[in-house]
Amino acid sequence: MKLAVLSRNPRLYSTRRLVEAATQREHQVRVIDPLRCYMSIATSNPEIHYKGQRLEGFDAVIPRIGASITFYGTAVLRQFEMLGTYPLNESQGISRSRDKLRSMQLLSREGVGMPATGFAHSPDDTDDLLQLVGGAPVVIKLLEGTQGIGVVLAETRKASSSVIQALRGLKAHFLVQEFVEEAGGADVRCLIIGGKVVAAMKRQGREGEFRSNLHRGGSAELVRITPAERATATKAAKVLGLNVCGVDILRSNSGPVVMEVNSSPGLEGIERASGKDVAGRIIEFIERHRKPGKTGTRGR
Ligand code: ADP
Ligand code: GLU
Repeated sequence: MKLAVLSRNPRLYSTRRLVEAATQREHQVRVIDPLRCYMSIATSNPEIHYKGQRLEGFDAVIPRIGASITFYGTAVLRQFEMLGTYPLNESQGISRSRDKLRSMQLLSREGVGMPATGFAHSPDDTDDLLQLVGGAPVVIKLLEGTQGIGVVLAETRKASSSVIQALRGLKAHFLVQEFVEEAGGADVRCLIIGGKVVAAMKRQGREGEFRSNLHRGGSAELVRITPAERATATKAAKVLGLNVCGVDILRSNSGPVVMEVNSSPGLEGIERASGKDVAGRIIEFIERHRKPGKTGTRGR
């Protein structure tokens, strides 16, 4: 196959591993910076150009689009879809997962467990919004945040109200969520490929830290997940329409709850913790499933 990896940086661990795994399986693979792609959109003749050259003949495209370039990156991916190139994850699924409110709404409609979550544009009644999610302590999250930055634990009603007021003053978009204290500063990342959990790890925050992000100093270890966790993770991936994703789950007293679904899951932590060749499994998935000209949504 001739594969494109849409990634800004060929030196990133995940990008390197995907290139390595594809090459090992004797595929041709090229890393393409989505921000350097330019496109023409003419009736029945979409084209993609890159550094003075027309891109053609790719059998599949592996999007590794960072959160900060979602808008342009998904447009480039959609153009590949228009050309009939098989996308590992479709642009539509990536857009869904990047919008926390949209993904929570879709997951809730399908009955996937999640922490009680509230959002509002300009609530006059902050107390009522807090009551909707069960009152303090609550977790307040900036919608634009990643890697745990912009996630605050507000332990009292007063603290919650003042954080919300401050965010309103900054015109920031945020959500307010029930604090799942019993998770004990840990979460479970399930790596899904083609509707199956192929690896899972438990991430534990540093002592005294409720956020388990590896970027915040958390540590990762292999974990056995329960059948309920497996079912929740695979359902979340299905609802958002993602072939490959990382589903982050909190272990709550009422069962597994989904915090977030990541459509460009990092491979380093999960390969180290599980000892599995996740990149190789991704390439094998593409070998089995790519269908030229038959992408599910064709960017719709
Ligand atoms: P980001 O997308 O920035 O990583 P998350 O929503 O994943 O933000 O939150 C970061 C971390 O904070 C999570 O990995 C988890 O450990 C912790 N956390 C987030 N939401 C809750 C919650 N409602 N209850 C308990 N812990 C939470
Ligand atoms: N770099 C991200 C983080 O650790 C990993 C991406 C992901 O969440 O899979 O926050």
